Amino acid sequence: MTRRDIVILGGGSGGAVAANHLGESIGKDHNVILIDQKPQHYYQSSYLWMVRGWRQPQDISRDLSTIERRNVRFLNDRVTYIDTDSRTVATANGEVKYDYLVSSLGLQTRPELIPGDFHVAHHTWEMDAALRLRDALKDFTAGRLVIGISAPPYRCPPGPYEAAWLIEDGLVERGIRNNVTIDFFTSEPGPLGGNGQPSEFMREHLDERGINLHTDFTIDNVDGDAKKVRSTDGRELPFDLLFIVPPHRPAQVLLDSGLADDTGVEVDVDTLATRWENVYAIGDAANMPASKAGVVAHQEADVVAHNIAHELTGHGQPTRLRLHTL
Ligand SMILES: Cc1cc2nc3c(=O)[nH]c(=O)nc-3n(C[C@H](O)[C@H](O)[C@H](O)COP(=O)(O)OP(=O)(O)OC[C@H]3O[C@@H](n4cnc5c(N)ncnc54)[C@H](O)[C@@H]3O)c2cc1C
Repeated sequence: MTRRDIVILGGGSGGAVAANHLGESIGKDHNVILIDQKPQHYYQSSYLWMVRGWRQPQDISRDLSTIERRNVRFLNDRVTYIDTDSRTVATANGEVKYDYLVSSLGLQTRPELIPGDFHVAHHTWEMDAALRLRDALKDFTAGRLVIGISAPPYRCPPGPYEAAWLIEDGLVERGIRNNVTIDFFTSEPGPLGGNGQPSEFMREHLDERGINLHTDFTIDNVDGDAKKVRSTDGRELPFDLLFIVPPHRPAQVLLDSGLADDTGVEVDVDTLATRWENVYAIGDAANMPASKAGVVAHQEADVVAHNIAHELTGHGQPTRLRLHTL
């Protein structure tokens, strides 16, 4: 049997699951290679708990090299170009050929796309930023807290609402809730798009906690000197502490290689296959009618890994994605 090279890009939620699955199923007979620019996998959902001090970075990180126990080779390297003609992935340190490619490179946070003084805004959408917000909150005892969403899509749609509740709860615990006003803005007509029960749930819980909701609030600019966020329709929210979920975009390498536009990589919604032969895209960077969520990336990874293993071994039947999520 010819050994095939199955290359997985990104060791986040989708890539780690795909690599584990393929390593276990076919890793002894084929070459399963995982590439990530970071040496560690971070469990992003816990960034919110880090802000409260309930988790430390080491509690939510795992060395990606441990995946080698599962018949997967790990390359700690940055992917710089994907050439689907020559079936080659270029990295900062070399080249890797593939027979099958699974891309799970996620979305990048791009705070610099917030108009104005974006650097005065905190967030919890990356590990280092979450730690900075944790420290800033320790020093924050009174004043105006503004939390907002620049624009969808972003990782984990309910995440900003959960962040607001956790922060509000921390102020209550410290006995300083009455010293702080909290405003929450979103560019959408309502929470989570503005329709349905999940949206109502978010509204009710903001209301219960005395958090003022501002909808259809598209940022015109952040003014760090005046300490105000202004919307394109002329509203102003003054702040002492500011938290904005930054804009997200697909990984630059997908844009540079022509695999994605700003909406992500076009995929078949049943199989996650792209228009390039033996190339699959899963997770946040796949243009799917689904939330940008780890639970979605996980299910997509299982489908793609199963189908690649089936194609190489002939065992079982091919499968299709049937998402189980809210
Ligand atoms: C605060 C927060 C809370 C969340 N809460 C939840 C939750 O409760 N439930 C839920 O289901 N989801 C949640 N999510 C969302 C979830 O974490 C993401 O949807 C999920 O991680 C996406 O998986 P992915 O594999 O597509 O990308 P990621 O997990 O982001 O992984 C992408 C990987 O690609 C690597 N990479 C990128 N570019 C390159 C390159 N050029 N070269 C090499 N490597 C590269 C990165 O280093 C990274 O490891 C949350 C996210 C955040 C930020």
